Amino acid sequence: MFCRAKIRVMKVLMLFFDGLGIGENDPEKNPFCASKQNILNHFLNTPRKQTIPFDGIVKEVDACLDVEGLPQSATGQTAILTGINASKIQGHHLSGFPNKKLQEIILEHSLLKQLKEKGKRAHFVNVYRPIFFKLGDKIKKVKLSATTYGNLAADLPFLSLNDIKAEKGIYQEFTNQILNARGYDVPIFTPERAGKILAKLTNSYDFTLYEYFLTDKAGHSRDMEQGIKEVHKIEAFLTAILEEIDLEETLVFLCSDHGNLEDLSTKSHTPNPSLFMAWGKEAQPFTEKINNLTDITPTILKQLL
Ligand SMILES: [Zn+2]
Repeated sequence: MFCRAKIRVMKVLMLFFDGLGIGENDPEKNPFCASKQNILNHFLNTPRKQTIPFDGIVKEVDACLDVEGLPQSATGQTAILTGINASKIQGHHLSGFPNKKLQEIILEHSLLKQLKEKGKRAHFVNVYRPIFFKLGDKIKKVKLSATTYGNLAADLPFLSLNDIKAEKGIYQEFTNQILNARGYDVPIFTPERAGKILAKLTNSYDFTLYEYFLTDKAGHSRDMEQGIKEVHKIEAFLTAILEEIDLEETLVFLCSDHGNLEDLSTKSHTPNPSLFMAWGKEAQPFTEKINNLTDITPTILKQLL
């Protein structure tokens, strides 16, 4: 009887967290030292833990991409979402949102677009505020996130705040407290509830993408109390996802564009390796192929196609 040597996973959940690196084991500057659930506490020059919860794997991934200077968000995220070394093309690392050149790279090579063209059900799960849907033609004039261009390139739907109540999407700040404080009528979620909603959502898609960036903001603030809050919040969210999801069927991974939160002694990004973690029965071979940010898109494509 014919038997396939390699069993491919059916689904992939990609969790992108801005500004998470692997830094020193120093509680004075690294909020990851305050980990409660033993998921995010990985350090440089420290023997890797044999196992992390839910049989996960952790890896140091290069974010510098052979380009001088500190890695930045626009180029790093473009590299993650396309597999192209945007920093090299740009000639330097670019912060903030993608410029015209990077937008063009994403619009042509977006991972979401490539998956859709190959018949895969790809889904960007973040919901957008009403202001985004009022942009109309102005969408070409304003600068948007790399993930937004990735989704535009694929001509996939954008989710609105109504999708929170319908549990079809989640806000970037997944507890909705920021939205609520701004006067939007949305339910407040615990990290556990948000994690479970996200895990359930993945059942309907081959590939699901979620983006969180308050980790980078906390890193820039150099506020240890806020940094530790982020660590506890994210660990609770990740634990809920991993409890809920079927790891036999789904590969879950977390990636980041550059270091920041792991070193609050500086308000800038760090040259540290970016944090990469993966769970599921294909996690080991998947992780082996990922050494720098440009390896992520081609490895997902190989995994799913
Ligand atoms: Zn930043």
